[in-house]
Amino acid sequence: MYRIAFIEGDGIGPEISRATRVVLDALNARLGIKMRIIDVEAGDSALARYGRALPEHSLDTIRGSDACIKAPIGESAADVIVYLRRVLDLYANVRPAKAYPGMRGLRDGIDLIIVRENTEDIYSGLEYDIGSDASIAIKVTTKRACMRIAEYAFKLAEARDGKRSVVAVHKANLLRRTDGLFARCCREVASRHQSIRFSEMYVDACAMNLIRNPEAFDVIVTMNMYGDILSDEAAQVAGSLGMAPSANIGDTYAIFEPAHGSAPDIAGKGIANPLSLILSAGMMYEWLASKHNDARCAEASKLVEVSIRSVLSKGIATPDLGGRSSTEEVADAIVEEIKRG
Ligand code: ATP
Repeated sequence: MYRIAFIEGDGIGPEISRATRVVLDALNARLGIKMRIIDVEAGDSALARYGRALPEHSLDTIRGSDACIKAPIGESAADVIVYLRRVLDLYANVRPAKAYPGMRGLRDGIDLIIVRENTEDIYSGLEYDIGSDASIAIKVTTKRACMRIAEYAFKLAEARDGKRSVVAVHKANLLRRTDGLFARCCREVASRHQSIRFSEMYVDACAMNLIRNPEAFDVIVTMNMYGDILSDEAAQVAGSLGMAPSANIGDTYAIFEPAHGSAPDIAGKGIANPLSLILSAGMMYEWLASKHNDARCAEASKLVEVSIRSVLSKGIATPDLGGRSSTEEVADAIVEEIKRG
C-alpha cells in the first residue's frame, strides 16, 4: 500500500487536483495498485488557519508517506516548497519539456529533461547589505552537491529512451571557482559513464540553443539559478506551461508538482490545464516503479503518457492549448482512455 501525501494548493490547485485524483483512481483500479491518498494542509489556507504555510503536522504526514503530489501554491509557495526541498534534501529538480500532439511549441521533436541542482548556488539565502548602498549574495558550490547532481543526470540519460547525451550548462569562463568546480565534477562523472555523449555549454549559449535547436537536447544538467530560468524557457518552447510537470527528488523522499504557479488569473473558471499535475503524477509512478521495482507502477506511468497523447490527438484540450474543453472534460477523457488501455 503506497501512502501518497497530497497538497491541493491554491488558485487553480484544487481544480487540477480533483482532475488528477480521478485519473489516479482510474489507474490504480485498472492496474491493481494499492494507494492511499492523504490530504495535507499547506499553502495560503494553512497560513490563514495556523499562521504557518507548512504546519508541523503536515510535514510529519509528508515524512511518513512514500511520495508527495503537490499542486501549485499561491503567495506562500516559497515557504512550502523551498523549505521542503531543504529539510527533505530533495537535491534534484527534474523538469521534462516535451512536445505533445496539438501543442503549439516551436518544434515537434522536443523531448528534453533539465536536471537542476536544487540545494545551493546563489539561492542559498546568504544575502547581505554592505552599508546602505550595496548588497552582496554568496554563490555556494560544493563538490558533494555537484557530484551527486551530475551522477543523477548521467544515470537518467542511461535509463531513458533518449539521445543518450548530457550537456553540462554553466558559466565557468567567468565564474572560475564556483562554476569551474561544477564543470570539473561533471567531467569527472562523465568519464565514468562512457556510453553517454558529454558536452558543455555556457548558459547564454544554452538559452539561445533552446530556441534555435531545442530538439537536439536530451539531458541538461545545471546549477540552481540557471536551471530555474532555462526550465521555464524550455517549457514555453515545448508549448505550454500548463503541460510542464516537475519532480524534486532526494535519496529518500520525492515531491511531484507542476512547474507553473497557481495561475490566479484563471482560477475557478474550470479551464486550467490539468495535464501538468497529471504528468507529475506520471513521474511519481515512474519513481515508485524504480524505487520499489514495481512493474505495475511502471505500467501506470506509461499509461499516463499514452492516454494523454491519445486524448490530445483527438483535439480534447483546454484553451491554453487552443482547445475548448474544460479541466474536468480533459480528465474524464483520460479516464476513458485508461479504462480502454
Ligand atoms: P508564480 O509567480 O507563482 O509563478 P505567475 O502568475 O507568475 O505565478 P503562473 O501561475 O505560472 O505564473 O502563470 C503564468 C501564466 O500561465 C498565467 O497566464 C496562467 O494563467 C498560465 N498558466 C499557468 N498554469 C496553467 C495551467 N495549468 N493551465 C492553463 N494556464 C496556465
